[in-house]
Amino acid sequence: MKRIHVDQIEKAIEEMCIEANYVLPVDVKNEIYEAMKTPATELEARTLEIMLKNIEMAETQQMAICQDTGMVIVYITMGQNTCIEGGYIEDAIHRGVAAGYEKGYLRKSIVKDPILRENTKNNCPAVIHYRLVPEDCFRLTLSVKGFGSENASQLKMLKPSDGVEGIVDFVTSSVIEKAPNACAPLVVGVGIGGTFEKVAALAKQALMRPLKQAHPESHIQNLEETLLQKINDSGVGPMGFGGNTTALAVHIETYPTHIAGLPVAVNICCYLNRHVTRSLL
Ligand code: SF4
Repeated sequence: MKRIHVDQIEKAIEEMCIEANYVLPVDVKNEIYEAMKTPATELEARTLEIMLKNIEMAETQQMAICQDTGMVIVYITMGQNTCIEGGYIEDAIHRGVAAGYEKGYLRKSIVKDPILRENTKNNCPAVIHYRLVPEDCFRLTLSVKGFGSENASQLKMLKPSDGVEGIVDFVTSSVIEKAPNACAPLVVGVGIGGTFEKVAALAKQALMRPLKQAHPESHIQNLEETLLQKINDSGVGPMGFGGNTTALAVHIETYPTHIAGLPVAVNICCYLNRHVTRSLL
């Protein structure tokens, strides 16, 4: 049996909160550099240039890339024989988030009750997802999700007869309508299948896949390419100012579903697709 002490988890989460807010993953940065090569207009080129400057300044000066430092989402992938020692894992995660947001001078954006809306003042709680796997591992992926783009996300229970055409219509119309308010160029996560709650989780999980990493199934890969092309053909462009690059990538994750259903969810992320992964075993 593998053992992990909660102190290791707390420390990792603290550091990951700061890193995710200061340093954009290299694959996301590279795609923005790529977009710089083919701007439609001077305004598009200038907008992308300012975005890259912002990203570089945050990294070199060790400060938040955006004022919206997001809600923390933690994905835990752990071997089923792992023993967590020293306390409750979720308490450790929340201590790590609180410490990271304090030490990193990051804005605390979470309200305790969605109706009463009193700030928790430590950016807790995080949203936590677990996945148990047969092999020995303990892997954390931490994402910080701003709500300019989270609010642009949508879910629809399509009918099986809507087919691929229905999926393409729903995803492209959702993204094109919301992109100007979601700080494009976007990374678009799409979930297809499962149930009402599963499809939303799939769409978010799709955002964690490295950009340029192709989906293993060719029909899904083709659908990702079709969606990306249609979204970019819209001409919405960076920040909605017009241009060739409205989205940097479209990623799809699927799951088996019921014969009577075709759930589809679109989780939109802005150009700051901020996430970090660490293995503790
Ligand atoms: S959508 Fe992204 S870039 Fe825009 S304000 Fe929110 S976190 Fe910042």
